[in-house]
Amino acid sequence: MRPAGYVWGGFGGALLGFVALALIVWPLLGGTVALLVFTALLAALFVYHIRSLKKLVLWTREPIGAPLPQAFGVWDYVFADLSRRSRASLDQRDRLAQALARFREATSAMPSGVILLSAENFIEWINPAAEMHFGLDGERDTGKPITNLVRQPDFVAYLCGERTAEPLTCRMARQAGLVLSIQIVPFGEEQSMVLSRDVTQFEKLETMRRDFVANVSHELKTPLTVVSGFLETLDDMLDELPPEDARRYLRLASEQAMRMQSLVDDLLALAALETSARASYDETVEMAPLIQTVLGEAQALSAGRHEISLELDGPVSLRGSRKEIHSALLNLASNAVRYTPAGGSIRLCWNVAAGGGARFAVIDTGLGIEAQHIPRLTERFYRVDRGRSRESGGTGLGLAIVKHALGRHQATLQIESQPGKGSTFSALFPAERVARPQI
Ligand code: ADP
Repeated sequence: MRPAGYVWGGFGGALLGFVALALIVWPLLGGTVALLVFTALLAALFVYHIRSLKKLVLWTREPIGAPLPQAFGVWDYVFADLSRRSRASLDQRDRLAQALARFREATSAMPSGVILLSAENFIEWINPAAEMHFGLDGERDTGKPITNLVRQPDFVAYLCGERTAEPLTCRMARQAGLVLSIQIVPFGEEQSMVLSRDVTQFEKLETMRRDFVANVSHELKTPLTVVSGFLETLDDMLDELPPEDARRYLRLASEQAMRMQSLVDDLLALAALETSARASYDETVEMAPLIQTVLGEAQALSAGRHEISLELDGPVSLRGSRKEIHSALLNLASNAVRYTPAGGSIRLCWNVAAGGGARFAVIDTGLGIEAQHIPRLTERFYRVDRGRSRESGGTGLGLAIVKHALGRHQATLQIESQPGKGSTFSALFPAERVARPQI
């Protein structure tokens, strides 16, 4: 039926009924009785419409989705139409609710923080990542102005200032160490969205990179200044300088050049450890000859100033890279020589460790290290005593190289030390790296 056709149908039907009744009743019963019959019919019609209308009004006050009341005649059509529309809008509401739930689920799972703000910067919605980033609680804080809850001045200035595409890097005062990258994205009429990303790790790496560049430049600058100073002096005064002075200057310049050389070598070794693929990690490395080589190198460096002994009763071989294991063990042994005053003793020990692993320990009776320095020793360029490290030819990169080389073999470095008594540096290899049980 066409829209509202049934209304006209109902109306027409009623009219026809009246006309038919008038034609039959009037001649049969006479004027007064016919009038009474008409009045009664009209009253019944009136009651029927009023009752149906009342049902409709009561139904509209019910919650959406309530079943429609029963009716007959034209009202049955009206109610059927309404029922269809109500079902369609319920379906649409369900679909929207599902879409909204999916959107919330997705934004809740996002590692980035999202806060929806009204035009007046009142919080309308917040996801769990943003709750963590800003120390907020969605249930408690929704509907409150964000500037009352996050009072950090740089954030407030960024939020209330002119909008830019440039994100703000913000060190959160409430949560020590947390650094966020924050961006405000306008949407809708005058609403906005605060997007936050945890960039703490990235900032840390960036600081490390800056420090590293500054350290390398500083380490190279000092010997370079010395070398160029000597060369200038030689250039200016070559004719007047006694030959032994000229030779001394050349020797000192060459020492500084060697210092730069070892720094560059260590930097390259570290870069290779950090970037190269683990190609030769399945080499079988015979440990006895390797440790004998390390002993020989330590003795050469000591030049007879220390008593160096060797204890070999660990596994025959390890699986890994010979070059990297050698570099790690040699750095430990050469540190022991460099930080043990003449007359001290050094022991190189290769043993079986608990759980089927292996342990290479270098035990010295040297200067020792105060406890507060120990956790930082493997940082690049960290030295307990800068002067002493340089004097002994150190670059400040030795233990960083050890840590990386061991890490690539799933091995760890253990440091025990007592100031004035000596230190024990141990490389602990896991059982998976041991190729055969015992020598
Ligand atoms: P460096 O080139 O300065 O020796 P390393 O990374 O090898 O750099 O060592 C870092 C610092 O650890 C050294 O500067 C030194 O202060 C300390 N250190 C390392 N090994 C020993 C040791 N056997 N005894 C005392 N101090 C040590």
